[in-house]
Parts: sequence; C-alpha cells; structure tokens
Amino acid sequence: QPTFSDIGLRLAGPSGIQELMDDCGAALTTHPDMRMLGGGQPAAIPAVQQLWRERMHAMLDDGSIDRTLLNYDPPGGNPLFREAFAAFLNRECGWGVTHENIAVMPSSQSACFLLFNLLAGQTGAARKRILFPLLPEYIGYANQALAEGQFTACLPRISETAPHEIKYHVDFDRLRMTPDIAAMCVSCPTNPTGNVLTQNEFESLHALADAHGIPLIIDNAYGHPFPGVIHNGFQPRWQPGMIFSISMSKVGLPGVRTAMIVADPSIVKALSNMNAIVSLANGNLGQALLMPLLKDDRLIKLGPEVIRPFYRERSDFAKGVLSSALGERVPWALHAQEGAFFLWLWVNGLPIPASELYHRLKGRKVLVIPGHYFAFGLEQEWRHPHECLRLTYSQPQHIVQEGLEIIADEIIRCFGART
Ligand code: PLP
Repeated sequence: QPTFSDIGLRLAGPSGIQELMDDCGAALTTHPDMRMLGGGQPAAIPAVQQLWRERMHAMLDDGSIDRTLLNYDPPGGNPLFREAFAAFLNRECGWGVTHENIAVMPSSQSACFLLFNLLAGQTGAARKRILFPLLPEYIGYANQALAEGQFTACLPRISETAPHEIKYHVDFDRLRMTPDIAAMCVSCPTNPTGNVLTQNEFESLHALADAHGIPLIIDNAYGHPFPGVIHNGFQPRWQPGMIFSISMSKVGLPGVRTAMIVADPSIVKALSNMNAIVSLANGNLGQALLMPLLKDDRLIKLGPEVIRPFYRERSDFAKGVLSSALGERVPWALHAQEGAFFLWLWVNGLPIPASELYHRLKGRKVLVIPGHYFAFGLEQEWRHPHECLRLTYSQPQHIVQEGLEIIADEIIRCFGART
C-alpha cells in the first residue's frame, strides 16, 4: 500500500459526496429495490428526453457527430460555443457578456473545485478562505478545499413562514467579512434546502463582495437561466466581478458533464489554463447538443414551460404525502418550496441523529441524505442539521410515496420509543 500525500489523503479519504454518489449509484444499478430519495439526478421528463433524442438523431444524420467525437476542443471550450453562449445570455438575460466571459468546464463540480482553490488557500503569506454565507449548503463543496481551514460559513436566521414551513435567511448580523475572505459562494436555488436568495439578499451580498473587492460566486445549477426551477421568478443578474456557474446537468444532461462559468476574463483565462492541466479539454458532446438551441428560445422556454411545472407538481405531491403521514404526531417543518428538486425536512427534537435515521431507513430500503453533510466550514457545533433530511422526489411517484411513508413511520417510531 503506497503512502498518500496530504492532498491525496484529503481527496482520497471518505467524504459525504463520495458516499452519496456510491449509494445512489448502487441504488440505481445493483440495488434496484432501494427507494432512491437520495440523489440529485434530474427526473426522466419525457419532453426533455425527446428533445435530446432529436438532437442526437440530427447529429447522426448531418454527420456532425463525427467531428464532435474526433476533436479535442481548446481547454476553455469550443470557441463557436462560447460565442453562441454569450449571445444567448445577452439576448435572453441581458447580461452584456462576450466569449471572453465564458469558460466551458467539465461540470460545475470540477469548476467549483478549481475556483475554490484558485481563489483561496495559501496566498503568499496569507491564508485565504471561501465564505459560504448561507448554510445549509451543497454537500459537494464540503471536501473541495486543498488546505485545512480554507472554508468558513455562516449560520442562517431561520423563520417560520407558515405552519410546518420554515425559510433560511442570510444573517447579515452574523456575517463577518474579514480580510482573509477571498470569495463568497451560494447555490441558488440551494441544494439541499431549495432556498432562493431574495433580491435584497442578493444585492446585499453583491454590495459586500464589491466593497471588499472579492467575487460573489452564484451556483445556478437548478436556477437561472436554465433549468429555471425557481418558483418565485427571481433571476439573478450577472455583473462584472461576479462568478456564475450554469450547468447542463439539470436540463437532463448530467451524463455529458458540462458546465459554463460566466466571469471576468482573468478568471475565465485562469480556469481554462487550469482545465488544460487537469483535463486537457472538455467533453464536447454537451456543447454540440446545446449549440442550435442557443439560437432560438427552445432552451430558455424549457424551464418555465416544462421543467419547472414538472418539479412543482412533484414537490406538491411529495409534500402532500409527507404532511398526511406525519400529521401532528411529531414536530416537523419543510423548507418553503422556492426551487430545486428537494424537500428539506426538519424534525425539531429528533431523538436520534439524522445519520442514525439514514441507516435505519437504508435498512428499510429507503435512501435519503442526512442533513449534517450540508453543514461545513463551522467552528462551532450546530444541532439543527442533525435533525434534518434531504429528500429527492424526482423518482417515479409510487417510489416517492412508499419512501416518504416509510420515512414518516420511522420518525414517528423514534419519538414513540422515547416516550
Ligand atoms: N452545484 C449544485 C448546487 C448541485 O446540486 C450540483 C449537483 O447536484 C452540482 C453543482 C454539480 O453539477 P454538475 O453535474 O454540473 O457537476
């Protein structure tokens, strides 16, 4: 057994995201009887799948598939795609960008890894950090720092917005902008909670970042401009100094592993140089599939017309099942349904940690993600996420229903065993 470097140990050791991806991969392949309420993959939406199938047929028919598969692109993405994507963003979002603001990356996961380590870590004599201003935050970031202590985070203010409903807010009284903060990062809508920043929060974070001369990173994996699973119409506007990540995954293409970063040219250049070292080039199938859709309004309409209503209906259905199964038997609340693909369940006073509940549920063939994975970068203990679960409702409805009923039953049992 060779010894691993410090960086090797950081990346090769167990992590929440690796357990999640292993569990979900197994559930979808070798344990098909597992009810998969754990993963982040998009649902099979017939109209969306049909679109990608048509695009693949067209690429086979016109022979463009050959050129696509044969060639390495430059590491920042296909130049024609970068032009077309900038034009799309200008036309549909009014952002005022050029190809120099666009870097194509092999997934937003790897783009974030490169960004966090480009901007933070040992920087001359200083140790710079990434600040996550609104926990809970995406599990996939948690292990991406190459240096110890490179991430810091801020606890949210939690408000009750309706019976059995909560919302997280950025707690600006608690947010400390120290000189070691190199950038702030928020996923919007947030994975896992479905929280969407308010216009006010977005503007205040931008103003803070601006005042300190640091980038505000917004990860739009579920949001604007596609797949557009934001229920209150919020559309964050990219401005110079900001870094936006836009992934192809949640429009039904996680298999193409492609995302676009919108940023100042110096960041775009740095990312594409890093990408050359790590990946040589991007997979180019996703860019080829998307290219003609950037020229008309098919892609931009897919969100409001197909994808968002689909998830809204699924979300309402899942919420209905869970509400009637839990009733008033235990103290519970869901995060307000503002976007993304998840229910975020808080069971106030849950008698066992969420990690233990996860194991019990797995034993009953239901896969969920325990909440504590979404709390990182903290120096203090925080009990709240140990009382939370992230639940996915993108699987077929009978699976979601069975899974949620088992989850409710197990939670009620936990409380029953205590009294
Ligand atoms: N960012 C967020 C907030 C996510 O939820 C996910 C995936 O679930 C990703 C990034 C990763 O997306 P990609 O498939 O582009 O790596």
